[in-house]
Amino acid sequence: MPHLPTSDGRQPWRAHVLTLFPEAFPGPLGVSLAAQARNARIWSLDTTQLRDFGLGKHRQVDDTPAGGGAGMVLRADVLGPALDHAQNLNPEAPLIYLSPRGTPLTQGLARDLAQGPGVTLLAGRFEGIDERVIAAKGLKEISIGDYVLAGGEVAAMVLIEACVRLLPGVVGTSESLTTESFEMGLLEYPQFTKPRDWDGRSIPDVLLSGDHKKIETWRREQSERLTADRRPDLLRSRGQKPT
Ligand code: SAH
Repeated sequence: MPHLPTSDGRQPWRAHVLTLFPEAFPGPLGVSLAAQARNARIWSLDTTQLRDFGLGKHRQVDDTPAGGGAGMVLRADVLGPALDHAQNLNPEAPLIYLSPRGTPLTQGLARDLAQGPGVTLLAGRFEGIDERVIAAKGLKEISIGDYVLAGGEVAAMVLIEACVRLLPGVVGTSESLTTESFEMGLLEYPQFTKPRDWDGRSIPDVLLSGDHKKIETWRREQSERLTADRRPDLLRSRGQKPT
């Protein structure tokens, strides 16, 4: 019974992954906050085995690339019906293909997706998928970074985890979300905890001063310095809404 409402009557945020490796899930989504939130029905996770839509006795899902070249490509006549099936289950959810060619996944995009009804995610394998499926089904392509993975499963988990921790009730205080890296268009300031002295290093005095105004100023400066050093591209795009 995956789609019962939460105790306060809200519908869960629904993640559905189409994959050749459903056994990879929930993986890291099955521990800690994401697991608790799933038990509380704040979100749900379903997988569809693409091979169930495979062709013939061998349930074939892929074939050689038209025009030649290395590797195999997932077939349109397999993915099409699989995507139709998934779309029927959650018609309002965007259809997303995890792909190195896609729009980069950012905190802003995760926030937008977390505000919707959920996501239907297609995880590719091999050389990828037949291009015609992307156009025919209106797939939105999303990349988790400028490197190539062996499959879309880990990328799907990354996207889901980034969204799930933004759902109301998942992370304890909403303040711990708003001060995080990227939320202000800045990287987060350095964090410290006990003990006060460790290995010849101490916690910066200002953090122990109890002066909240000073602490806020120090953190802000640290954030700006770190961002300028490591990610000047974030500062340049700060005029716009942070994404
Ligand atoms: N030949 C393709 C890469 C295929 S990698 C190309 O050059 O673009 C196999 C699958 O892994 C892809 O279909 C995609 O679903 C997934 N994948 C690989 N890298 C990814 C990334 N950076 N972001 C999201 N998905 C990725």
